[in-house]
Amino acid sequence: MHPTTQLLQEARDKVTFPTQELTKLIYGNEETYETFMKAQKVIASEPSIKNHPDYHNWGRKEQIIKSYEKLRIMHQHLNLANASHWAPMLSLFQGTTPSAVSFGMTVPALRFLGTDEQFNLWGPKFLTMEIVAAYAQTEIGHGSDVQNLETTATYDSQTDDFVLHTPSVSAVKFWPGELGFLSNYALVYAKLIFNGKNKGVHPFMVQIRDNSTHKPLKGVVVGDIGPKLGYSTKDNGFLAFENYRIPLNSLLARYVRIENGQFSRHGNEKISYASMMVSRQLIIFIYPRMAAQSLTVAIRYSITRQQFTNDKREENSVLEYQTQQDKLLPRLATCYGMIFSGLRIMELVDDNFHRVLKKDFSTLQQTHAILSALKAWSSQWVVDTAEWCRLSCGGHGYAHYSGIPAIYFDTAPNVTLEGENQVMYLQVARYLLKVLQYVEKNPEKVPFYFNFVLHIKETLANQSTDFGQLLKLTLTLQLISVAKKIKDNMSTGKSFQQIWNEVVGVQLLSVAQRYAEYFTYLVFQEYISNANPSVKEVLQQLCDLYSLQVILDNPNTLIESGRITVEQFKLFNETKIELLGKLKPQALGLVEAFNFSDNALRTCIGCHDGKPYEYIYEWATKENSVNIKGVPQAVNDLMGTKIKARL
Ligand SMILES: Cc1cc2nc3c(=O)[nH]c(=O)nc-3n(C[C@H](O)[C@H](O)[C@H](O)COP(=O)(O)OP(=O)(O)OC[C@H]3O[C@@H](n4cnc5c(N)ncnc54)[C@H](O)[C@@H]3O)c2cc1C
Repeated sequence: MHPTTQLLQEARDKVTFPTQELTKLIYGNEETYETFMKAQKVIASEPSIKNHPDYHNWGRKEQIIKSYEKLRIMHQHLNLANASHWAPMLSLFQGTTPSAVSFGMTVPALRFLGTDEQFNLWGPKFLTMEIVAAYAQTEIGHGSDVQNLETTATYDSQTDDFVLHTPSVSAVKFWPGELGFLSNYALVYAKLIFNGKNKGVHPFMVQIRDNSTHKPLKGVVVGDIGPKLGYSTKDNGFLAFENYRIPLNSLLARYVRIENGQFSRHGNEKISYASMMVSRQLIIFIYPRMAAQSLTVAIRYSITRQQFTNDKREENSVLEYQTQQDKLLPRLATCYGMIFSGLRIMELVDDNFHRVLKKDFSTLQQTHAILSALKAWSSQWVVDTAEWCRLSCGGHGYAHYSGIPAIYFDTAPNVTLEGENQVMYLQVARYLLKVLQYVEKNPEKVPFYFNFVLHIKETLANQSTDFGQLLKLTLTLQLISVAKKIKDNMSTGKSFQQIWNEVVGVQLLSVAQRYAEYFTYLVFQEYISNANPSVKEVLQQLCDLYSLQVILDNPNTLIESGRITVEQFKLFNETKIELLGKLKPQALGLVEAFNFSDNALRTCIGCHDGKPYEYIYEWATKENSVNIKGVPQAVNDLMGTKIKARL
C-alpha cells in the first residue's frame, strides 16, 4: 500500500464509533442525504461539469459560462426548485451556483409577500426558469438601512400603474446576485409614493430583460459590477430605471395594496424580514458544511504530512503535535454544533413559515432573532475556519490545489450579505433586552430558547462549573450588565438611540454572540440525548470541547464576576488538553462522516487515499495550463528587449 494511504488507513482503523450513525445525524433525513450523494455522483461523472484542476487559471468569463452549463446539466438530474435538492450542490461545485438567489431569495419573498394569485402567476415560471429574478434591494448609497433606499415607485392614478425611477447615482441598485447577466426579472425594493406621500419601501416584481433577446428593456440600465474577492461566477449587478412604467400588479400585495385608487395595509409590517429567513437559514445550513470540507482536507493532510522525527526516529504526522490538534479539533467540535443548529433552525423556520401563511405572527420575532444570531456567528466562523485550515496545511494550504482558498473566498461574502453581521447582532441584542423585560410582567411570553431569562436568580446562585451552566451564566451576566448600563445612562438625560449607538454598542455585540454560542450548546445537547448510544460518547466529548473553547476564548465576564478562580481556569486548560488527546484518534472518522467525494473537495492534498505529493506534482506538470501555453513567448519578448538598466 502507498505509504500515505497506509497512514490514513491506520487512522481509520483507530476510529471507535460507527461513522454512519453520525452521517445520519449530519444530513437530518434520508432524502437530503440521498440527494447530496446523487449530486456528488452526477458532478463527478459528467466530464463537462466535473470540477476541473485548472479552474483557477481560467478567466472569469469562462468560469461564468461553465457555471451556467453546470446548472443546465444539474437541472436534468435534480429538482432544483426544491431547496433540499439544490442547497447541497452549493458546496460541491467550483464557483457559486447560478439561480441560487432566484430560488433562495426571490421565490421565498414572492411566497411571503405576494398574494396567492401573484404566486400562481409567476411561481410556475420560476420552476421552468422562464423567469430568473434577482433580489434587488441594496443601492450604492444604502444597504443595511433599507428604510432610506432612494429608488421610487410613484403611483399614477391616471394610468393606474407605477413609474419606477432611479433619482441619483446613490440610488442605483448595486450588488444583487444574478442581476448582471442571468435575470430577466428583478424583485425591486422601492419607496412607494402614493398621492405624493412616502408609504415606505416595498417590493415590486419587475421585468428587466426581453423574453426572446434577453436584452435590457427600454428604460432599464443593467449589467455586472465586476470582479470581487472570490465569488467570481456570481454576476452581482447594477440596475437603474429611467421613468420606467410597471403595471399595478407588480407591487407584491399580500400586506399592502392599492385597489380602486386606495392604498391599504394588511397584517404585520415585520413580515418583510420573513422572506430573508429562508436565505439566512440556508447560510446557516450550508456553509458550516463548507467548513467541514476544509476540515476534511486539513485533517487528512495533517495525518499524511510528516515533519520531524520522534524518539523512535520515525517521522511524526503533524496531527501528532498538540499545537496542530489545537488548531483543528476545537473547530471540528464547533462544526458539529453548527451543523446541528442549522438543522434545528430549519425546523423552526419551517414552523414559523406555516404560521405566517395563516397570519399567525407569534413566532416571527423569536425566529428572526435566532436566525440573525446564528447567521452572524456561523458565517464569520466558517471564514475563520477556512483560514485556520489553510494555515494548518503550511505552504500547500496556500495553493488552490489544496481546495481551501476557494472555500475562504466563496464563504467570505456571507459575513456581509443577507444582513451585515454586526447589524444582525444588534437586532439580536434588541430582542434579548425585550425578552428580559417580559420576565416581570409577561413571563409566559418568553420563548423556549430564551427561557434562561426566567432563571436569572438560580443561574447567579448556582456554583456549578458545568460548561453549559457557565455559558448560561456568561450570557446572563452580560445581558444584565448591558441592560443596567442603558438604564443608568437614561437617567443622565441621554437619548436611547445615543446610548445604543455610542455607549453600549460593543457590549450589545458581545451579548448577542454569547446568545449564539449558548443556543448552539442547547441544540448540541438535544442532539446528544436523541443520538444512537454508539455515538453519544464522542458527541459529548465534542460538545465539551466546543463549550470549553468558548469559555476559554471569552473568560472576562466569568473572571470579573469572581465566579471562576484562576485555579479553575488552569484546570479548564488541562481538561481541554485531555479532550484533544481523546478526540485526536476520532478526528478522521468525524470528518469522513460527512462523506465528501474527492471531486467535491477539489483537493490534491486531502484525498481519500492520501498521496498528496503525487497529486500535487501531477497537477503542476499535467494540468497547470500556464505551463502549457502562452507565457513562454512573453518571456522571450522580455528577454529579447535590450533594457537599459542603470547599475
Ligand atoms: C457578494 C455579495 C452579494 C450580495 N448580494 C445581494 C443581493 O442579492 N441583493 C441585494 O439587495 N444586496 C446584495 N448584497 C448587498 C448586501 O446585502 C449589503 O452589502 C449588506 O446588507 C451590507 O450593507 P452595506 O453594504 O450597506 O454595509 P454598511 O451598512 O454600509 O456597513 C458598513 C459598516 O457600517 C457598520 N454599520 C452599519 N449600520 C450600523 C449600525 N446601525 N450600527 C453599527 N454599525 C453599523 C457595519 O457593521 C459595517 O461595519 C450583496 C453583497 C455582497 C458583498
